[in-house]
Amino acid sequence: MKKLILIVIDGLTPSMFEAAVDSGRAQVLALLAEQGSYRRAISTFPSLTPVCLSSIATGAHPDVHEIPHLVWYQRAERRLVEYGSSFAALRAAGFGRSLRNTILNMNRHHLGPRAVTIFEALEDAGLVSAAVNFTCYRGRTRHLATLPGVPPAFGPRRFFFYNLFESDVTGAPLAVRDRAAGTIDAYAAAVGRWLVTRDGFDLLVFYLSDFDFASHALGPDEAHEALTRSDAAIGALIDAAGGLDEFLDRYAVILCSDHGQTRVDRSVRLEDPFGRLDAVVITASNRAGMVYRLDGCREDARALALRLDGFDAAEVVLFREGQEAIARREGAEVRFAPGETGWMVSGDESVLDHPDAFERAWAALANPNAGDLIVSAALGFEFSDLAGRHHAGGGSHGSLATGDSEVPMLTLGLERSPERITEIAPLALAQFGIEPPAYARPLVGA
Ligand SMILES: [Zn+2]
Repeated sequence: MKKLILIVIDGLTPSMFEAAVDSGRAQVLALLAEQGSYRRAISTFPSLTPVCLSSIATGAHPDVHEIPHLVWYQRAERRLVEYGSSFAALRAAGFGRSLRNTILNMNRHHLGPRAVTIFEALEDAGLVSAAVNFTCYRGRTRHLATLPGVPPAFGPRRFFFYNLFESDVTGAPLAVRDRAAGTIDAYAAAVGRWLVTRDGFDLLVFYLSDFDFASHALGPDEAHEALTRSDAAIGALIDAAGGLDEFLDRYAVILCSDHGQTRVDRSVRLEDPFGRLDAVVITASNRAGMVYRLDGCREDARALALRLDGFDAAEVVLFREGQEAIARREGAEVRFAPGETGWMVSGDESVLDHPDAFERAWAALANPNAGDLIVSAALGFEFSDLAGRHHAGGGSHGSLATGDSEVPMLTLGLERSPERITEIAPLALAQFGIEPPAYARPLVGA
C-alpha cells in the first residue's frame, strides 16, 4: 500500500494546466502528467475556496459540511462571517473576529458535525496525516499556536499552517512576508521537503494558495510565473524523495485544484436590486451571493428572487419552495428534488445546464447556513464584497458556470480518477482500506 500525497493548487484552471504541461512550461507537472492519468473534474457550489476545500477534505457538498460561502450570515449569532474576500473585507467585518473565523472557527464551529475530514478518518485508523496550509484541517490532535493569545487548534498530527501552527520545527521561512512574490508557497515547499525527507506521514495534503491570488489579479490562464513557482514547490517534494522514480515508488498522488476561474470585466453590488428593503442580509463576494431573510421580512423567497429578474449580473437564482428547489433564470424556472432513482424535474431544464448543476444547487440550498436565495453570477460579472473590493479586469470564480467549476485532476498510482472533487476523500480513504462516511455517495442514482 502506497502512501498518498494530495496536492491542491488553488484556482488552477484545466486549460492553464493543460497548456503548461503541453508546452513544458511547468516541468514538474509535465513529468507527472506523462506518467499519470488526467481528466477534467467538477467542483462544488459556490465554487469558492472555503467551500471547495471543505468538500475536498470531507467528500461532502455543503449540505453536509455546512460551509456555505466566503462570506455568510450566521443566523444564531446574528453576525457576518467573512473568511477573507479581501483584506479590506476582513477589516470591514472586524479584523480580529474575521481572522479568528478564518483560522479557527471554520474548523472548530462552522464545519458540520456530520462531516468527517480525511484527517479525522485516518487518525481514527491509527495512521498519520499531515497538512500544509490547508484551511479545512479539522483533526484529532490539539496544537498550540506559535503566537500568544491565539487559542489552540485541532488538526492532523503533523500540522503546518502559515507559521501559526507548526507541529514540528522544520526551519521553514516565514510564510506571510510578500504574498505576490510567492512566499506562502515557498513556505509550503520548505515544510513539504522536510516531511518527505523524513517520510513522516501516511497522507500529506499539500496546499498551494499563491496561484489563485495571482490569477485573480492577472486573469485566468495568465499567471504563468505563479504556476512556475507552484511547479517548483512540487519539485521540492520530488527532490526530497530522491527523484521522480523514488517519489512515485513511495507515494500515490492526486493533483488538482479546488475551482476554476473566469474573466470578469464588471463588478456590481448585489445589494442594489433590494433597495431599502428591511430585514434582509446580503452576503456577496466573487461570483456568488446569498440573500438571507430575517424575522419581519415582508417578502418570501420567491418575491426576493423576482427582484433579480432583469438584473444582468445574476444568471441563476436558487431558492426553496417546500420540499422542492427552484432555479430561476431570465424569467424561466425549473423545479427539482432528489427522487428514488433520479432527479424529479419539472419546468425548463435548460435553466440549469451547468455541470452537475442539480446536485450542486440542491446541496448548496440544503446547507442550514445558506441564504434563502443563492445567486450564481453571469459570465463576466462579479459581486463586490463587503468593502466594495472586486477583481474586475482579472479573474474570479464562485458560480455554477463551467469555467468556475472545472478543475484539472491528475492521478498517479491510483485505481480511479475522481470525476468530482467530492470523490477525492473517499478515494484517499480507500487507498488506506478505510470505509468512507455514508454520505459520500451521489444524492441520486449510482
Ligand atoms: Zn479565489
